[in-house]
Amino acid sequence: MTAEIISVGTELLMGQIVNTNSQYIFKRLSELGVNVYCETTVGDNAQRLQNAIETALSRADTVILTGGLGPTVDDITKEIAAQVMGKTLKLHEESAKAIDEYFKKRGIPMPPQNEKQAMLPDDGIILENECGTAPGCIMEKDGKSLILLPGPPYEMQAMFESKVAPYLKCGSDAILYSRIVRIYGIGESQVQQELIDIFENQTNPTIAPYVKTGETTLRITARCHDEEEGEKMISPILDEIQRRLGTFVYSTNDEELEEVVVKLLKEKGKTIALAESCSGGLIASKIVSVSGCSEVFIESAVTYSNDAKMRRLGVREETLKAYGAVSFETACEMAQGIRTTSGAQIGASVTGIAGPGGGSEEKPVGLVYIAVADENGVNAKELRLGNVRSVVRERAAKAVIDMVRQSLIK
Ligand code: ATP
Ligand code: MG
Repeated sequence: MTAEIISVGTELLMGQIVNTNSQYIFKRLSELGVNVYCETTVGDNAQRLQNAIETALSRADTVILTGGLGPTVDDITKEIAAQVMGKTLKLHEESAKAIDEYFKKRGIPMPPQNEKQAMLPDDGIILENECGTAPGCIMEKDGKSLILLPGPPYEMQAMFESKVAPYLKCGSDAILYSRIVRIYGIGESQVQQELIDIFENQTNPTIAPYVKTGETTLRITARCHDEEEGEKMISPILDEIQRRLGTFVYSTNDEELEEVVVKLLKEKGKTIALAESCSGGLIASKIVSVSGCSEVFIESAVTYSNDAKMRRLGVREETLKAYGAVSFETACEMAQGIRTTSGAQIGASVTGIAGPGGGSEEKPVGLVYIAVADENGVNAKELRLGNVRSVVRERAAKAVIDMVRQSLIK
């Protein structure tokens, strides 16, 4: 089965909102084994919307539209869709009652224009809206279907899950089941090299690599009948990838590095504290994004100035004078300092030159030192992380989190 998406709304074309609806639907359709080859974004304009629907219907079995089901005059999706499909809109009593109820519950009278939302195709499938007012609907004709969903993402998602996914499953005999492998510490080309034979010999499951800041992700996808069968097809490949890449693989369940580290800290019953210079709290922010981190995360000190490094962490003045704030030695003293003063079992630190200014020949922009101190002593690493400030900070934060991970699984 093939599907296309049409996103309706002038604000999308003006760059005022990000098209998260398409992203959501793409992901779900791929999981459901529905092929998508095209997506269209079109403004709230009758003629252009009509053209978009006709074109999409000429190519795909199913066309999913989001947006433009609201009560205002610029909401025209349903009217145009009905026209293309040769359907008439009639007042759907049940929906009218539900919309009326929706307003009653909130203690406000229903604005008369909202009745427009209950005008629905007489022989269509009506999709009740559990989170808002506009019902969606499915119109079918000549073996093709048009699925209309509301624009607000939480309304669209709820309707997709409870109504559209079951509808699409009925028309499809295969699903796509995926596992995501996340890899840190070796480049994409090296990953490809290590796995070249696996990459080349796969038709089902398939393996697709993609790269995010400083890490590589592999999506392994099986076309199968159900999740159990998919898991059986994928697990030998997962095992082989882990055997070859070892601890560079940090998750086979699409987790973030920080999620894995928080989990490891909990397992080992250890706590962590951070001393951050160029990352400015970014590492703490990542750790804190993991729910339940309070069990293992003590604190992070953002010690940007030399004075703060000495006062808060006990970095020695001689160290700063002899080696500078961005040095192997300072990183080590920062990690040890935060470990001692916080009482955490693990202290981790970062100090570097994020740029664009502040670099020198000896210490260029992107030079970063990270360190981890634990009961066995302290370890530090020198890194070169490029020359874009935001990228240097992001990479530095990830590198620290991974260094902690490596120290925990050693
Ligand atoms: P409403 O009843 O609120 O008017 P609607 O079905 O008419 O809903 P739109 O008017 O097109 O939908 O969009 C309503 C809001 O939903 C937009 O302002 C935007 O916040 C969000 N929205 C619409 N389309 C998208 C999209 N493709 N991705 C993300 N958000 C969207
Ligand atoms: Mg609207």
